[in-house]
Amino acid sequence: MIIVFKTDASRAQIEEVKQHIVELGYEPRVIQGVERTVIGAVGDELSHRSLEILREMPCVENVIPIQKRYKLVTRAYHLQDTVVDIGGNKLGGGHFQVIAGPCAMESAEQFHQAVKDLVNVGVRIIRGMAFKPRTSPYDFQGLGTQALDILRQAKKEFGVAIVTEILGSDQIAPVADVADMLQIGARNAQNYHLLEEVAKAGKPVLLKRGLATTIEEWLSSAEYLMVNGCSQVVLCERGIRTFEKAMRNTLDLGAIAFVREETHLPVIADPSHAGGVKRLVLPLAKAAIAVGADGLIIEAHPDPTNALSDAAQQLDSATFAQALAELRPWVTLAGRHLEAEAG
Ligand code: PEP
Ligand code: MN
Repeated sequence: MIIVFKTDASRAQIEEVKQHIVELGYEPRVIQGVERTVIGAVGDELSHRSLEILREMPCVENVIPIQKRYKLVTRAYHLQDTVVDIGGNKLGGGHFQVIAGPCAMESAEQFHQAVKDLVNVGVRIIRGMAFKPRTSPYDFQGLGTQALDILRQAKKEFGVAIVTEILGSDQIAPVADVADMLQIGARNAQNYHLLEEVAKAGKPVLLKRGLATTIEEWLSSAEYLMVNGCSQVVLCERGIRTFEKAMRNTLDLGAIAFVREETHLPVIADPSHAGGVKRLVLPLAKAAIAVGADGLIIEAHPDPTNALSDAAQQLDSATFAQALAELRPWVTLAGRHLEAEAG
């Protein structure tokens, strides 16, 4: 950390701050400038106590951290792209996955049809939520544990991998019994206790970016997963809240490009929850591929008009198939391999 003194800081005050720095376990290196004095406090900021307390001292103008608050997720820590294995399907390091499925399981018939249509065009990882985080308590909340049997059945019949969301710690064990990847949704992106618990489940985790989390906060949430034993983390940019109201959310394309550089973890985009309407899914998906996304997660429903949640943004099966075909050359151009062979 760098401690910047006010121009009128006295020698005695600087000496006192130096003592504090030593007591907190850092080595102080004093730099005497023309106008003011600066101390570089040398030491690992992650394992030592913070020097933020020095802001309290009247002679101190600013305390500037040098190290980031995350380590395991950085490229400096792990140079190669992490490849995440989702039930035998690789994502990252050039393996591009299009995860697709309905917003929620609504019935055995609806999910069966959805998976059948998606598998036909080569999708290998299916999304489908048993538990839905809804803004209104009066909206469809998902079928709950009843839906886990529907997931089990789909896995058995089609051999697909399953991604589904965890809303609370009590759901981890029953869901991990059937799911191949556990989703932490936008609303729980900073639920640190849940992140710690999910990390211990021994499954890959799809970590969505929160509605109003900075990249640093998002990566710190990923660090929670990694430091608690989960190295198989996929980041997902799903649009953030901005002043813009024309779309459901604002897909932060810059974040995708930035995070690809900053971390070794794969990052995918969710154009469905970002745009919030069918017609924006394809253009946003293309843009995400162009800035370096390692995959997509797209909502697809056999009968979107009658969907119980997110009806406006779910693609019907034929439109999804067409979109996937249109995205194929974009993935190739981006130097990735689309892991979706039509059967
Ligand atoms: C979802 O993927 O079903 C979902 C609710 O997404 P988000 O958490 O990004 O809103
Ligand atoms: Mn949805």
